[in-house]
Amino acid sequence: MRSYKKFRLYPSKVVETELNIQLELCQWTYNKLLEELNKAKDEGKKLKRYDTQKLLVKLKEDKPELKNVYSKTLQMVNQQLWNNIHTLAGRKRKGYKIGKLRFKSYDHFKSIFYNQSGFIIGNKKIILSKVGKVEAEFHREIKGNVKGIIISKRAGKWYACIQVENPHQEKNQIKVKPNTSEKAVGIDVGVTHFLADSNYRFVENPRFLQKTADKIALIQRQLARKKKGSNRRNKIKLRLNKAYEHLQNQRKDFAHKLSTEYVKNYGFIAVENLNIQGMARNHHLSKSIYDAAWSLFISYLSYKAESAGRILVKVNPKDTTQTCSVCEEKNIEHLDLSVKIFKCPYCKIEIDRDINAARNIIIKALFGREPASMLVENRPLLHKLKQVSSLKREAPCVSLE
Ligand SMILES: [Zn+2]
Repeated sequence: MRSYKKFRLYPSKVVETELNIQLELCQWTYNKLLEELNKAKDEGKKLKRYDTQKLLVKLKEDKPELKNVYSKTLQMVNQQLWNNIHTLAGRKRKGYKIGKLRFKSYDHFKSIFYNQSGFIIGNKKIILSKVGKVEAEFHREIKGNVKGIIISKRAGKWYACIQVENPHQEKNQIKVKPNTSEKAVGIDVGVTHFLADSNYRFVENPRFLQKTADKIALIQRQLARKKKGSNRRNKIKLRLNKAYEHLQNQRKDFAHKLSTEYVKNYGFIAVENLNIQGMARNHHLSKSIYDAAWSLFISYLSYKAESAGRILVKVNPKDTTQTCSVCEEKNIEHLDLSVKIFKCPYCKIEIDRDINAARNIIIKALFGREPASMLVENRPLLHKLKQVSSLKREAPCVSLE
């Protein structure tokens, strides 16, 4: 999605003189290109956009002052000319009576285009190539990627129209499901499953990831047997790179789908503040492929939640596995990874280990360490959630340590 934001400029006398010279040179170029176009037409030749663009080189030789204009700005003059030609042709097609494209007088030429490059936006100023520093009044924050700037003069005042593109908004704007803003979920990313959530849902480790990982291991073994520098080895190396790329794409795809789903369905999402790097070093957990998929999942979740106005809370994972999510007592016994069921020695509940962790994560995020019964009874949860929501709306991503 592209948007335009207009800001007032306050050029110094010197810079203003320079801007006026630039406008004049752009106007001259516009008229000159149009003249050449008309001349060619009279001679029975048809010039295209590319031909007039090439003409710019010749014009610079004939008129060395043109070198004082940023080269892409001159290319944009050519672009302007062709846009006008197409607009005119469009009107003709619609049946309007149209004349020839007119030459532009200085009064009618008001804009200097900077597209993609040739400018830097700084604090209270814009630096323009071949012009210099111009003071600017940014009354609004500029978010996203700046694609271009149009400098224009209106009634003796100067303005910068800044064109901004927001790629996330364009591609990944998520339509949240209605009546889900008060729904909360805790997510535990794990080893046995890809994740488990506090609503008793398991998402298994995707088998296609394992399949690609197995393939990579196989290619690696083949590679080890080949002589260094041999043709065969190079071919296998290429295959290996392709397999890695495939794995990366699969991971991204999977993480995108899953994170979108959670943002669509829940207004409040809690995850562990995981040190994935630390986990990868842990021998038991050295499933690096899943580690990478988790970090992708969490990072997608963060930016999607923010852009959809959802709340994402990252909690300290300390004791989330050891604590009973029903009676809140901490189990001092060390839970080995092979233990799949959490058995509470106090309240005697038996619950899946990862679901228990996910429940503790949402309890931590919502209530600190208030009694878990709050979570079972619906109304206080919603009430609390409302409070949390209104508190956190300003900062959608907060860390509760
Ligand atoms: Zn218990």
